[in-house]
Amino acid sequence: MHNDDRLVVVKRCDGYETAEVDRAVEELFAALHAEELVGPGKRVAIKPNLLMRRRPDEATTTHPAVVAAVVKALRRRGVTDLLIAESPSGQYTKARLKSIYDGCGMTAMAEELKVALNLDLGVTQTSAPDARMCREFPILDPILQADVVVDVAKLKTHMMTTLSGCVKNLFGCVPGLLKPELHCRFPDQEDFAGMLIDLCDLVRPSLSICDGIVAMEGNGPSGGSPRPLSALIASRSPYAADVAACALIGLPPKQVAMLREAMGRGLCPSSLEELTIEGDPIESLMQPDFQKAANQGTDFLMRVPKVFRGPVKALLTPKPHIRVKDCIGCGRCAESCPQHTIRIVDKKAVIAYSDCIKCYCCHEMCPVKAIDIRRFRLFDL
Ligand code: SF4
Ligand code: SF4
Repeated sequence: MHNDDRLVVVKRCDGYETAEVDRAVEELFAALHAEELVGPGKRVAIKPNLLMRRRPDEATTTHPAVVAAVVKALRRRGVTDLLIAESPSGQYTKARLKSIYDGCGMTAMAEELKVALNLDLGVTQTSAPDARMCREFPILDPILQADVVVDVAKLKTHMMTTLSGCVKNLFGCVPGLLKPELHCRFPDQEDFAGMLIDLCDLVRPSLSICDGIVAMEGNGPSGGSPRPLSALIASRSPYAADVAACALIGLPPKQVAMLREAMGRGLCPSSLEELTIEGDPIESLMQPDFQKAANQGTDFLMRVPKVFRGPVKALLTPKPHIRVKDCIGCGRCAESCPQHTIRIVDKKAVIAYSDCIKCYCCHEMCPVKAIDIRRFRLFDL
């Protein structure tokens, strides 16, 4: 890890009053020397947590006052090309985005500051070359097109991933209903954590800020309760920011599967002691009695009645599909298939789906791109 990635700045901030939040966020940016990362000519995407349509005081979503302060801090550093982009849960449509921006207080904030809220539904399937668990992700175009991503998370406990902070916030770079698809592909908690780290490594936010002024405790990400924590956290590393967030809420970082995975890859410090903490004394902000979530694991299907799990899984998991007219019968897909479930018949590949484990190796190996990954139409967004 680079030394800059061990630096975390923590500022006390007792409420969402504009002047106080602006001052605290400016101090975070200054301490992290943000001017080295952003400036004139850089296209910047701010990625808040807008999980669903909730009022800011419900502590489910990043507070608009924090996002506004980030916009102002970026503009003070000469950034003019900037927008706010997020894919909430549920379908990724313009109507739903507008409704969530309105309900979360983002529309009013954006109108006041004249900053753009993303309504472009473009998504690009993107390779993750250094991935260990998931080698391709569908990513929102405004995130991909940005020179710099600023991750502005909400600090919450989470029933599936234990913590929702700066690393988990990036799951919203995957559009709408393609998120449950990833839950289905990686039902095991450790595998899901590996996928999240692959995604975080792909998106690589330059700055990560966590809104813990009023955090969510208990059964987050949406069913917990607001809890004043009076803290803003920032780092160049989303992992380091999350380790500091853990310290504030009395959660050992090794209990968080995604941080464990990041530690194993040498991306994340294993404890607070390995961080350089600046700003206000972190000990004065710690609340060890912060309520943790009842961990239910990351297997999305466990929430579906048993009798429906098979069909739901089949619907949510995309399949490889051979475009027969384009197949040249080279057999590379059959050679790469770990299940030996592809045969070449009359110079065309044929898949026996009953044995297919949806690893998509065939899709990656085809030299003429004759294998698509197809999903059920409802999940196109
Ligand atoms: S997705 Fe994997 S298991 Fe299925 S046919 Fe392709 S290579 Fe074989
Ligand atoms: S790798 Fe592509 S072109 Fe070759 S047999 Fe398989 S589908 Fe056809």
